[in-house]
Amino acid sequence: MSLPEAIKSAVYAAAHFSGLSSALAVRYRGRGTIFALHSIVDDDAFHPDHTLRCPVGKLEWILRRLRQQQLDFVTFDEAIERLSTPAARPFVTFTFDDGFADNLTKALPVMARFAAPFMVYVSTGMVTREIDAWWFGLAALIRSHDEVVIPGLGRFDCSDAPSKQRAYAAIEAAIHSDFDLLPAIRAALAAAGIQIRALVDKEALTEQQLRILSAHPLVTIGGHTTTHPNLARATPAAVHWEMAQNRAFLQEITGKPVNHNAYPFGHSGACGDREADICRALGFHTAVTTRPGMLFAEHRRHLYALPRICLTRGENPSTLHGKLNGLSRALNSRLGDPVAVM
Ligand SMILES: [Zn+2]
Repeated sequence: MSLPEAIKSAVYAAAHFSGLSSALAVRYRGRGTIFALHSIVDDDAFHPDHTLRCPVGKLEWILRRLRQQQLDFVTFDEAIERLSTPAARPFVTFTFDDGFADNLTKALPVMARFAAPFMVYVSTGMVTREIDAWWFGLAALIRSHDEVVIPGLGRFDCSDAPSKQRAYAAIEAAIHSDFDLLPAIRAALAAAGIQIRALVDKEALTEQQLRILSAHPLVTIGGHTTTHPNLARATPAAVHWEMAQNRAFLQEITGKPVNHNAYPFGHSGACGDREADICRALGFHTAVTTRPGMLFAEHRRHLYALPRICLTRGENPSTLHGKLNGLSRALNSRLGDPVAVM
């Protein structure tokens, strides 16, 4: 567990055992939750990019725990419909970002066992292998080195498994707060001879796998742009192209309408009102961010800025309890407005 994760976990435990989490729930617990995940991996597999990976056993534990709490597992469309029904039972819905092959091979069997519907937001570039997934490259760089130096950022110890995960989390967080660091990352990857395309090829859905996934009755496919850029740094024409081309690509392969979208990265530095406007103009019905928060009736007026709660490999009874009580939003907004929007 990386340090920020350990701190978060301690905060959740303190909030749980002091009763604070339950007290905050009065204000911050919404009608339901959209959970966000990425890749689902074998329980004993080591990944430097652990922030993207949830072990299959942990996913199973999470689903069992949510079921015990009498939460309905609903489709994304049903989740949105329930916002208009005050008497509706509390619900959760699940989303997986990017288009990992393991969503078909590892997540689907578990989700099916719990009859849990889920959305998979797929980037065209995952399927075509053309995505500029610097994060895959960064994980490979850290995995294969005992130390990594990123000019402008510093030197990172990568001599053992925990330090590799700490280095990945630190560098990833630094990039998310300053995308101008990316050229230095790309230079380091090039110098180490790391080929992103080969890494993507090992992990991403093929066209055929995407068709199989899409045909499953529990699965909905959503848009996630063509190249997975930071949209907030792109021109309006590029944002439009990214979303429209991706949607056309997915509709062509799956033969089904693609009505929902997820902004790459999803934080405040990567999407905002302009992206929401373009999404709406293109005719998508909804779009999700990674702003933490639960769903409230008010979100019917913010369908292009729906918050999500990320699930990680570090979930335990107190983190899950806190997340279901809206604790992430309470912390993130510093006890401000419970309704997370753009
Ligand atoms: Zn993504």
